[in-house]
Amino acid sequence: MNANWQYHLYKGFWVGLDWLFPPVCGGCGSPGTRWCLGCQEKVQGIENPFCDVCGLPQANSGLCDRCQQKRPSYKLLRSWAVFESPVRNALHRLKYRRDVGLGEALSNQVSSFVDQLNWPIDMVVPIPLGKERFKERGYNQVAMVAMPLSIRLGLDYHPTVLIRARETRSQVGLTAAERQENVRNAFFADGKKVDGRTVLLMDDVSTTGATLSSAAEALLASGAHDVFAITLARALPHHGLKIV
Ligand SMILES: [Zn+2]
Ligand SMILES: [Zn+2]
Repeated sequence: MNANWQYHLYKGFWVGLDWLFPPVCGGCGSPGTRWCLGCQEKVQGIENPFCDVCGLPQANSGLCDRCQQKRPSYKLLRSWAVFESPVRNALHRLKYRRDVGLGEALSNQVSSFVDQLNWPIDMVVPIPLGKERFKERGYNQVAMVAMPLSIRLGLDYHPTVLIRARETRSQVGLTAAERQENVRNAFFADGKKVDGRTVLLMDDVSTTGATLSSAAEALLASGAHDVFAITLARALPHHGLKIV
């Protein structure tokens, strides 16, 4: 199907809905738009230097200690923003308020970010929720951005390629080793869809990148050629999510 046509239809749907129910900004709550210019300008990117592989900010460039000890399964991980407001507010809203239009609005900035990475990717796969969590929430917040992002980038979108083999507890408050253990063998992938393809794997927030590495491992085991990973936000040590 023509991606452009699909995109205009999708976009038109939201323009129509905005006319019926005027939106508020997902970052600051001001009325009139889903992601206002002020918030767009306040997005705090990850500044150099950071780890060449996992993208974690550090004192020098090169590989961080963890990547030196053991390379993650994904090739590279980069994050669009630091886990601070207004992005933090927007992600909260996506997760708990089902603001699909906000996902579409964020995908605009995120697609520019992915474009400049120049990765040889050909399909977008969001990290899935476990069955129980999906039942509770009714939707996957990562898909809210991943779907419109794939349309903007002209890439295939495959939300059902990855499956959670089991429920995992939240990674918040766990050490790096505990995080790795918590998500070990947590995923399996549908080999027919990923065979020989280069995947853009996407999650909303990453800390150590353990979830993405575990999911990438499943994709590679099912025949994916390569896996590149992005998250919308990166939680850093001062955000209170225990890292080491
Ligand atoms: Zn705003
Ligand atoms: Zn690293």
